[in-house]
Formats: sequence, structure tokens, C-alpha cells
Amino acid sequence: MANKDMKHSNNIAGAWYCTDPDDDNGEGCIACNVCYTGAPDFFAEDDDGNAYVKKQPETDDEKELCMEQLEACPVNSIGNDG
Ligand code: SF4
Repeated sequence: MANKDMKHSNNIAGAWYCTDPDDDNGEGCIACNVCYTGAPDFFAEDDDGNAYVKKQPETDDEKELCMEQLEACPVNSIGNDG
């Protein structure tokens, strides 16, 4: 699940984040591409295809779109409590 102590280093500061693939619990991003294809304004991929948050959502619509990615992530690697 999302681990705010193991954020991807590229995440922009703020509540929303992606968990680093090297998370000790083995539950970080698996580069499935769901979030950065579903919400490309807010999520991006690094050179290995792992996701990070590039822009924090601000409006309700933006937060809803990011929440859809959070719920769709197959390994619950996206958090909004950071
Ligand atoms: S949906 Fe989850 S596993 Fe897939 S790229 Fe995004 S953070 Fe990684």
C-alpha cells in the first residue's frame, strides 16, 4: 500500500505521492502505466516507467480524477496523506 516514508524521489511536494518501487514492503509502483495514462496532467513516468506525482491536484474535479487513479492502482501505490 502507499507508503509516505518511501515516496518516489521525483514526487512534487504535497499530499499526493507515488510510492517508490523499492519500498521495503514490496508494494511500490510496478510501472503498470494506469495513473499516468489516466491522469497525465498529474502523474508522470520516470525512465523505468515508475510513476510519480508531477502536479498536485487543487480543484475538486482534479482531486476526483486523481482519486480514480488511486483506486485503480493495482498495488495501492498512490497515497494522498503525504
Ligand atoms: S497505477 Fe500504481 S502501479 Fe501503476 S504506474 Fe501508477 S503508481 Fe505505478
